[in-house]
Amino acid sequence: MSNYKINTKCVQSGYTPGNGQPRQIPIIQSTTFKYDTSEDMGKLFDLEEAGYFYTRLQNPTNDMVAAKIADMEGGTAGMLTSSGQAANFFALFNICECGSHIVASSSIYGGTFNLISVTMAKMGITTTFVSPDCTEEELNAAFQDNTRAVFGETIANPALTVLDIEKFAKAAHAHGVPLIVDNTFPTPVNCRPFEWGADIVTHSTTKYMDGHGAAVGGAIVDSGNFDWMAHADKFPGLCTPDESYHGITYAEKFGQGGAFITKCTAQLMRDFGCIQSPQNAFLLNLGLESLHVRMARHVENGRAVAEFLQNHPKVAYVIYSDLPGDPYHELAQKYLPNGGCGVVSFGLKGGREAASAFMKGLKLAAIETHVADARTCCLNPATSTHRQMNDEQLKAAGVPAELVRMSCGLEDKDDLIADLAQALDGIE
Ligand SMILES: *Cc1c(COP(=O)(O)O)cnc(C)c1O
Repeated sequence: MSNYKINTKCVQSGYTPGNGQPRQIPIIQSTTFKYDTSEDMGKLFDLEEAGYFYTRLQNPTNDMVAAKIADMEGGTAGMLTSSGQAANFFALFNICECGSHIVASSSIYGGTFNLISVTMAKMGITTTFVSPDCTEEELNAAFQDNTRAVFGETIANPALTVLDIEKFAKAAHAHGVPLIVDNTFPTPVNCRPFEWGADIVTHSTTKYMDGHGAAVGGAIVDSGNFDWMAHADKFPGLCTPDESYHGITYAEKFGQGGAFITKCTAQLMRDFGCIQSPQNAFLLNLGLESLHVRMARHVENGRAVAEFLQNHPKVAYVIYSDLPGDPYHELAQKYLPNGGCGVVSFGLKGGREAASAFMKGLKLAAIETHVADARTCCLNPATSTHRQMNDEQLKAAGVPAELVRMSCGLEDKDDLIADLAQALDGIE
């Protein structure tokens, strides 16, 4: 980990060219790598030497970008995946197996909720969901003998709740398991969960990190802080010999800082192949180079829009943890002192019909399911992604009919507010 500040890491980490080498990270668009002797290649297969042999497992472009993200988070090792979904699956499945149990915040991305509660359940991995607002007693009560990980999102998509990372880390560590935090919304520019006790961080790089709606991707970073060997009975995959790699014990051979990512690459990437294309990794790095500049503008626009909406007579409520009075404002001040992200949710007084009319009136903000893009986008779940639900079901799902989610982009805030104002005026 370098000692540079986050702004410098966004621009420079991960790749330092030598004399006469390309200034920009090269795209190594090659499936395969050539060796002079079988013995040379054999050393890679035995994990005796680091290197590349097939892009299903590892690619140099990806590794340079992963090294940048790891440095930005303050971690010891990182890897890219083909999507955020793959990152969360790999991070959990790297230490869970049939018979394992997860404690997860109930306030998480719908795709991750589905992954854990439906697909991983089919693999024999069960989960207890807890409210992010639960007491320490309630949280501790969710653990079982077979619990292997705790999971939450720094700022939840789309509920925008803020995770009390220290509370969740303390409970995880008291039960001898790591805390995995999906840090997609704030990015390491606005929050670095390792500084608050998280052990593993994941990202959907599809969101702010890419930031231009160009490339789907994910990332996993290890803090190197979790002592697997101290809990060897819980993590046999890391702490006992891997017969598919000639009896290597990851936690011994690669140490506390390298074991998690090496196992994840050597086993899960080998067997599932959810690798990011080098071309996408290159695009992701272009996004990272300006991430620190863009996050500040996303937050500035989010704040301006939230303040405008808060004072508007047709708006019932605004959800944005930067606003004083928001239920998560105190946690946000602790974990996100420079602001969280550009996503603001709000409810319209006129319910479903008002929301529908408002969406029709928007001119600059586009209707999209995407968030965290350079271009502002809006979604009314009741009339789009959740349209099969009635008003009562919507309320129970935390997306009441009047709710609009707005992801503030990088445009001028005055233009965004003017667009909102005219769309609100157009509601009968
Ligand atoms: C979008 C998102 C994901 C899933 O990422 P994909 O790149 O779409 O697979 C996971 N977690 C959070 C918080 C997200 O916003």
